[in-house]
Amino acid sequence: MSERAEILGVQVDIVTMAQAIERVENLIRAKKNSLVATANAEMIMRATKDEELKKILNAADLVVPDGAGTVWAANHLGYEMPERVAGFDLVQELMRISPAKKFKIFLFGSAPGVADKAKAKAEELYPGIKIVGTRNGFFSPEDEPEIIAQIKKSRPHILLAALGVPKQEKWLAAHKDELKIPVSIGVGGTFDVMAGVMKRAPLWMQKAKLEWLFRGLMQPSRAGRLLALPKFVLKVHASKK
Ligand code: UDP
Repeated sequence: MSERAEILGVQVDIVTMAQAIERVENLIRAKKNSLVATANAEMIMRATKDEELKKILNAADLVVPDGAGTVWAANHLGYEMPERVAGFDLVQELMRISPAKKFKIFLFGSAPGVADKAKAKAEELYPGIKIVGTRNGFFSPEDEPEIIAQIKKSRPHILLAALGVPKQEKWLAAHKDELKIPVSIGVGGTFDVMAGVMKRAPLWMQKAKLEWLFRGLMQPSRAGRLLALPKFVLKVHASKK
């Protein structure tokens, strides 16, 4: 177990990308229906108002520091957070090592067709990868038994769920014992980016720690969510003892 940084009541693991990957590999071997979350500033802000989400995050087996905001907050609060472990990058790294490690992956979520496109992209980028199933993320409660049966039948080691925050975290927490998948991860917009439906910020913006700004500008519907970051900064600062 690594040390955790407490940010606004949410425990975030102090890990590098390499350490996060090692932790996920260990969780896969342990086969304990583990949950992995990728905590960006927006998710942590949401957890301050959503007790259920906060509980899920604090009970998760691994919570990686997703985004410049989370890394800044941890460091501001006196922890030494080495680097950002973005959910998208974590997924790419897991996919990259999967053929050699023989990890099978299921892609659950996003609009119809998107997970299939992400699968095709993964097969192009990571030859030998076994994406054992896909399912879109728009369903009604009556569809859930069939979705759960489909996922279980394909026996993945890793279940990637892209239903948006906090739906994906809540869905995975509610069904993990029934699913019995070694590791489940909420991955937000990852399939959209892989499928080319949504663009990721250019590298210079990522390096300038401006990915949040790019996201807000590209999706006007999210523009209001941009305010979450300055609010987060103020709240973290105020929480500093
Ligand atoms: N999504 C889904 N089912 C839903 C709502 C959203 O599959 O009921 C998908 C959506 O298509 C997108 C992903 O969830 O691919 C993440 O959405 P968003 O970018 O809003 O997520 P966040 O940034 O909150 O993780």
